[in-house]
Amino acid sequence: MESTEANITTHNKPSSPISTTIILSPCAACKILRRRCAEKCVLAPYFPPTDPLKFTIAHRVFGASNIIKFLQELPESQRADAVSSMVYESNARIRDPVYGCAGVICHLQRQVNDLQAELAKAQAQLVNMQTQKANLMDFLCMEMAQSPQPLENYYMSSSSNIDFFEADSVWEPNLWT
Ligand SMILES: [Zn+2]
Repeated sequence: MESTEANITTHNKPSSPISTTIILSPCAACKILRRRCAEKCVLAPYFPPTDPLKFTIAHRVFGASNIIKFLQELPESQRADAVSSMVYESNARIRDPVYGCAGVICHLQRQVNDLQAELAKAQAQLVNMQTQKANLMDFLCMEMAQSPQPLENYYMSSSSNIDFFEADSVWEPNLWT
């Protein structure tokens, strides 16, 4: 309650002296560790007072002193990423105390393997269908090349049919007589 008011005060007055900011708005880490948030607190940029759960989770798995040690060993440009990965790892470890992050990695690796197998199967099917299509086209081309006159034959046989009908029509007048 007290610190919430303090945060509001700090946000409303950004021009307030630094010393007041340090006293009134400890970072989430220092607040949970019940220690004074120093001016150059290494945790403050990554654990804002607005998100205490982030530190609680990382602290539970790594421990505050390890987090501080890890961050001090890294250049500032990489610290935000390191904190993100520690928080991610901690979440995974809490959710899965046996495998933690490795469990997530194994699960994703299995998914990748399954999808790669599925892709290989689909590609094989595609090659198979392309071969079938090529064979069918070859067959049709061969048929066309071997018998170029089947259409003429068809018409010729049709004309014989016409003869037949004409012959048939010869009978028709007889029906009328
Ligand atoms: Zn702090």
